[in-house]
Amino acid sequence: MRIDILTLFPGMFEGFLNQSILKRAQTKGLAEICIHDLRNYSTDKHGNVDGYAFGGGAGMVMMAEPIVLCIEELGKERPYDEIIFMTPDGEQFDQPMANSLSLKKNIIMVCGRYKGIDQRVRDHWITKEISIGEYVLSGGELPAAVVADAIIRLIPGVLSDESSALLDSYQGELLDAPVYTRPEDFRGYKVPEVLISGDHKKIDEWRYEQSLKKTEKRAKE
Ligand code: SAH
Repeated sequence: MRIDILTLFPGMFEGFLNQSILKRAQTKGLAEICIHDLRNYSTDKHGNVDGYAFGGGAGMVMMAEPIVLCIEELGKERPYDEIIFMTPDGEQFDQPMANSLSLKKNIIMVCGRYKGIDQRVRDHWITKEISIGEYVLSGGELPAAVVADAIIRLIPGVLSDESSALLDSYQGELLDAPVYTRPEDFRGYKVPEVLISGDHKKIDEWRYEQSLKKTEKRAKE
């Protein structure tokens, strides 16, 4: 899978992309993530990428041209399954959406800044709008990173134990069960007996019960 991210702040992705699971996915050739600096696509003589909003009001708006030029250039190289705009008024991101996006081959993600991007790009080039939650961040970079992470960990071969992602919360009806590791006794707090019993049937039952309890409790909150 290939993800192209269009941003005014490419540096924000450096650390994030080059660590842990996302790094492994790229080294193994399972995912390719390319960051594009929209400033390189400015045709304005001052190199501007934003302007005042028509009609007035506070805040700048990202211009259509740099975004569209970048999308067009990428589109000449390969077909894209989805051109996504990260925006707080988009469709709420969730696990089923991550699952379906993880099956795509090429995706573009556009990160907004300021008041957002010129509406004409949204109307005529963007094919999907995603919100990571009902709150407003200062840019689409963190949302794009959230979505990229959620998608890439689902690609077969990225996690060392593939079944792990399938048992996570939100993959089924139930939330994931609690987990413990060494030592068995941490400052007097013990690991539940059943987990060290070696009885796998009992362990599965216990995990199922715990998942059920957690899910019911969360539903009431
Ligand atoms: N004026 C806009 C918010 C702009 S915030 C509005 O009220 O809808 C600047 C940029 O940050 C947005 O264009 C978007 O790309 C990104 N952003 C902020 N919050 C987000 C969220 N919850 N989900 C996805 N993207 C978000």
